Order: sequence, then C-alpha cells, then structure tokens
Amino acid sequence: MRNGKIKKFVQIAALALAVALPLTALPAASAAVEVDPTIKVGLFYGSSALPGANLLNDAGSGYRLGYYDGNRNFVPLASTGETAISVVKTQNVYYGKVGTWSGYYDTITSDIAVGCWHLKLPGSYSSYDEAAAAASAYPGGFAAWIDGTWQARVGAWLDKESAQAAQTELGLTDAEIAGTSSYAVSVVKTGTSQILFQFDSASQCLGIQPGLDDSVKTETIFRGCTYYGGFQYQRVGGGNLTVSNVIGLEDYVQGVIVQEMSSSWPLEALKAQAVSARTYAYRNYTAGKHQSQGFDICNSTHCQVYYGMDEVTSNSSKAVEQTYGEYAWYNGSLIDAVYSSHDGGATESAVNVWGGNVAYLIGKADPYEASVASKVPGYNWTVTYTAQELTDLLNSKGYTNAGIVDLQVTRTSPTGNAIEITFTDAAGKSWSKIRDDCRTFLGLRSIHYTVTSSTGGTSSGGGYTVNGDGTLSSLDGAYAIGGSNSTAQLGSGVYIIDGSGQVSQATPSGGGGSSTVFTITGSGWGHNVGMSQWGAYAMAQQGYTYKDILTFYYTGIEVRKP
Ligand SMILES: [Zn+2]
Repeated sequence: MRNGKIKKFVQIAALALAVALPLTALPAASAAVEVDPTIKVGLFYGSSALPGANLLNDAGSGYRLGYYDGNRNFVPLASTGETAISVVKTQNVYYGKVGTWSGYYDTITSDIAVGCWHLKLPGSYSSYDEAAAAASAYPGGFAAWIDGTWQARVGAWLDKESAQAAQTELGLTDAEIAGTSSYAVSVVKTGTSQILFQFDSASQCLGIQPGLDDSVKTETIFRGCTYYGGFQYQRVGGGNLTVSNVIGLEDYVQGVIVQEMSSSWPLEALKAQAVSARTYAYRNYTAGKHQSQGFDICNSTHCQVYYGMDEVTSNSSKAVEQTYGEYAWYNGSLIDAVYSSHDGGATESAVNVWGGNVAYLIGKADPYEASVASKVPGYNWTVTYTAQELTDLLNSKGYTNAGIVDLQVTRTSPTGNAIEITFTDAAGKSWSKIRDDCRTFLGLRSIHYTVTSSTGGTSSGGGYTVNGDGTLSSLDGAYAIGGSNSTAQLGSGVYIIDGSGQVSQATPSGGGGSSTVFTITGSGWGHNVGMSQWGAYAMAQQGYTYKDILTFYYTGIEVRKP
C-alpha cells in the first residue's frame, strides 16, 4: 500500500462548465460497431439502490473524482489519496456500526452522522484549489461542485437550526445556510463524518475513477467484489444511489464468462461464451435496454451475471484475449446472442418460444449435450401435478374451472419440444398455453418434456359416493329430494350449496377427477433458444472450436471483428 501523502485534493483539470449532456449517451443505431467500447454495468439499482456506497482501493493509489461526459470520457475535477472512501446521498446519513449496515452509510442513526445542512462561504471560486483553500480555514470545510460552479462549504449538520447556531459560533455572519438538491452526493472518508467533496449537478452524475492515472489497471473493492474501471453514482428520480461500473467491454466480458460458465471449462467453450456475451452486451448497449436507469446492462440473469473480476483466471482471460473484439453477425448486423444452460436434447426456434421469426435462432436436435449429461446437475427432471393441484393453479391464475381432468402436450415442434399444452376441465372446457408459457406457466425448467397421466386407486373412471356407500358414475338420471319431499331429476351440471352458502359444481372423484396424477418428464434448463452452455462444453471436449460451437447453435452466422 502506498503511503497516504496525498491527503488533500488537488485540482487536476481546468473547470469545465456544466453543459446539458445526456447522462447516458448511446451510439447511433447506424454507427459502426466499436471494439472495446466503454459500457456502464448496473450493480445496484431500482430497489437495490444504496443510500451509501463505499469503495476500497487496496492499491492505495487514490481516486479521481469527476464525471463521465457524453462520450463516456472521464472528466476529472479533483482527486484524493485516501484509500477508503464512500459516496453518500445528501440526506442525513450515518455510518453503521452494528448489524447489516455495519461498515456502510445508511439512514439508521449512529453517532457518526453526515448531515445535509452546510454553510456556504460568500461567492464562488474559479478552481477546486481556490474553493478548497477557502474552505480549509474552517473545521469541516470542503469544496463543492454545484452545477459547474465551485463553492466553499463548511460543516454537515443534521438540521437548519444547528447550522444557524454554528454560523453564529463560527462568526460566519456573511455565510449562507445551504441545503442540497435531491440529486446531490457527497464523497466522505469512510468511517467518519468528514466530507471530502460534494457534487450536485442537474446534467451530470458523479464519476469516480480509481487510481491517479490510467497507466496502471487499478482494482477496486466494492461490496466484497473486485472491479476494474470506474464507477458512476446517479440518484435516479432523486432516490438512493444507482451504482454502475464504467468499464471496457473486454474487461466486462472476462467477468461475465466466469459467472455464466466456470473458468475451469474447456477453452473453446469459454471462447464461444466470450463472443456470445460480448455480442449480447453490445446489443444492449446500443439498444438502450437500461438507459432510463442510467446504465447499459444489468448484472443479474435479466441481462448477464457479473460480479467483477474475482473468479477470473488465466484460462478465462485467454478466452477473451483470443477472441478480442470478435462479435457474432448475421447479414451484417450483430445477432441477439441468447443462450441458456442446457437444451435437454434440442434447441428451439425463437418463433416457437417468443414469437417472431429470427433467421439464425432455429431449433435443431443437439447431438452433443447428452455426452456430458452426467456432469450436469439435474439434467433430467420430473415434476408431478395432481389434478387438484392443476385445478388450484388455473384458479390462482384466474382461469375459473370445473376441476381440471386432463393436461396434454397438444403441439410439439419439429425438434420435439412442447409448444402448446392444453388443460381440460370436468365440464369439457379447455385452455391452451403456447410458446414459452409451456415452461413458465407450470414452473418447469424447459420446454423439452412429455406428460403422462395416471389414476390413483380405482381405475374404473371414478364417480360420486352416495350416502357413504355405493357410487354413481354419473349424476345424470339421479334424483334429489327437496325439503317438502318433492323430487327432481338431476342433469350433468349439478351444483352443491354448503352450510355457509358457498356454491360449487359437483365433480366426480377418481378416474378423470382429483386423484389423477400428471407426470411431466423432461430435460434441459432455460428457454432452449440459441447456444446451450453445456452443449458448448461437450463440443469443446469433443475437439470442436469456438466458431464450430457458435455456428452450430446460431444458424448461418459469422464470427469476426467489425
Ligand atoms: Zn438487465
């Protein structure tokens, strides 16, 4: 670790006036595909956005503070030699000392408070140095960059009254009480109340680039994971901090392939995954999939799993280096490089899963995957549903039914995947589900399955129990006796009213009734479209190259640099 000589900020760039640039600029759709562009990967966002985000730079080489411009170039405003810093939203926040928030800043009170009321010294300053010098004359003074103008601010009180009292005490009669906007953030020294820098801008959001220059690739620890590149902190809608990793695409791909596969997998499989992940990420980047949230691609299975660089090995790095800048193309455009864990024996055409034909996403029998089935956890699976469970399932999803008596795969694709299933109830009414619903409606792992049904107990077709003994197979022709001893003949649609006034249709037990069990036997895990990751493993093991793998799973594509 380097010594902490650089304790104070130094100005490292001339002040640029804030201009109203979009927060996340995207390349035009027709722009040439770039190699290794800078992308923004959402790490904490939406409901996971943070009140405070701490950074730990083990290399001890400090941080540059500024923002990323419309071209995603980092514009430095100041720097610090501190090792551990935190970014907090400018509401009253506290450094957590116990429990879940121990070591983090949150709104749960503790004796280490960073208040959001400050004193603003008169006037503005033309540089960081000037503002910092003026502020340093008072305890808790700091430089603040407010919409492109430098201010010197003092203190961090929890309410306006405390700030006013301090103003009198410090003799700062010409200072103003300053609050902050709902987009402001402060950088503090972790574990303290000391503000190092405040950033408040309507058109930019705070960026932090670890390391004092770009000649060394700096690793930064954030929330237990190690990252390359920088970070962006955006208070989307004035809320908590949306934290994004601002990183080169090639480095990002290294982090993805070790999560989506394992660094110990065969090199050619990892290379195929690298090209898929790179292509998938680039398409998200240009399509603006998460643009409204301030980043390009998220770090969950919604996009691609990414937790930084911790699992990266020389094997996985090699996979990215040996495919550097290569994307998968169809007819001159990047493909939608979807993939899933394993297809269970056959991939499926996009049209049969999501609707809409995609020329290169064509279902085909997979002759490779089965050779590694024994290595794949849960390759083959079985799920059972009783008729009653299916009845309940359909009812819970709003399909009011007279008791489900049948479930069948009513259409399969040419590769044998289920693409239409049909439920039938005791009244003969039926409901069909198609495409990916064949998987998701029943909560199954894939669409590669068959359904068989069996009847428990009597296989005579079941019936209605009468007076505790004897059964009738049908109520057709039976009679009911009313309270006045009048009788009425019953039809097939008989309803029963119970003591609490609940009305339900009478359904027979046994046979096609509630004791029927439907056994769903399948293999595969995922949507079955595009590349099978375990299939890639199998092909690599059998000596195929990454291009063989990619061109097998994505029909008619080519793999190349732009
Ligand atoms: Zn996503």
